[in-house]
Amino acid sequence: MMDMIDTKFSRAVALAVACAFGLSSAAAIADDYSNLRESAMSSQQASASEASSSASSTAVSAAAETVAAIDPASGMPEIKYELGKQPLKEHPGGASNEATAKNFPISKGLAGVSMFLKPGALRELHWHANAAEWAYVIKGHCRVTVIDPQGHHEIKDFGPGDVWYFPRGHGHSIQGLGNEECHFMLVFDSGYFSEFATFSVSDWLAQTPPSVLSKNFGMPESSFKTFPKKEVYISQGPVPPPLPQDPEPGSDNPPPLTHRFRLGAKAPVVTPGGTFNLVDQRQFPISTTMSGAILKMKPYAMRQLHWHPNADEWQYYIKGRAKMTVFGSQGRSITREFGPGDVGYVPMGCGHYLETVGNEECEVLAVFNSGTYEEISLTEWLTKTPERLLETNFGVAPKIINELQKGPPIFSNPEKSK
Ligand code: MN
Ligand code: MN
Repeated sequence: MMDMIDTKFSRAVALAVACAFGLSSAAAIADDYSNLRESAMSSQQASASEASSSASSTAVSAAAETVAAIDPASGMPEIKYELGKQPLKEHPGGASNEATAKNFPISKGLAGVSMFLKPGALRELHWHANAAEWAYVIKGHCRVTVIDPQGHHEIKDFGPGDVWYFPRGHGHSIQGLGNEECHFMLVFDSGYFSEFATFSVSDWLAQTPPSVLSKNFGMPESSFKTFPKKEVYISQGPVPPPLPQDPEPGSDNPPPLTHRFRLGAKAPVVTPGGTFNLVDQRQFPISTTMSGAILKMKPYAMRQLHWHPNADEWQYYIKGRAKMTVFGSQGRSITREFGPGDVGYVPMGCGHYLETVGNEECEVLAVFNSGTYEEISLTEWLTKTPERLLETNFGVAPKIINELQKGPPIFSNPEKSK
């Protein structure tokens, strides 16, 4: 009975959201049903994996907070999730927490994980069945290994400002390097992804009878006695040695498209109000389903009114504070203030802008679920629209329209906003 009420309620909420974003209700209902199924499946997987690991050293101190789907004051979906304040799932050598559509309902198109690895700690060999992985290193260093379906194997070291991208299903591992903890954000192109329900090799081997492993690897069954009996997820080991400068002849088999992009080393677009540094598949050809950018906004600056025609935007606030307002049509908008550790979300097509709060620079990671970055700036649109049309549209004097058309398209000049 409760299930029926919940389902009806979810459908009503989905319809309200669909209307707010101008989706057709039939499509919305179909999406809603498949989303509910996926959501239920992933939560079952997550609770199953939590149950199976509860007897080990793995511990979750408290449940992650779930935010309301709809903000009652604005009638808009909630756009803020305080990921940094959520309990971390602790493992030997590492820890992580996540924002998914389960605890942050608006984030249907993208999910994110904040992960910490101590030097030598290994996020084990694994892959993802339902999402590609786009990552940004905030602090420290790590080594990533990845295999593609053509058998190419790549090993690369990453540091602050570096990005990796693994197409859906490519096998990979991540290990902390150096002498400080490594912190990186993982972003996935499905909101129903859970980092705690991935395909880990230790889990698979533990699930497979020793007789089968014996046949598969051509080794005696007894060889598998000491293998883990359940998923390892993260294990603490020694820091690996430096990568060889000149690999042995014939030992190197790198893929034609590298999984690493050094975003921090790329020159950003510089404006008086801040900088915008973008990587999409035009610079990083393997990243066909995702793109990302680092925005650095000066005090008093604003990221001007714009929208993305082809993607949702998932944000992680790294430094400083900013307010974001998202416009949802039908006279509705929602404003939230964000600080370090917070996650923001803008559904595809919704107009939005950001304003720096306080006198500190604000740094934001923005990730999109499209390999090609697209935006339409309101200022640019108005600049290209005939004045007479705008006079009719707004019913205001030509002098005002003339001023309206002069603004810069990315960040406003902070001096003007003081
Ligand atoms: Mn992964
Ligand atoms: Mn945006």
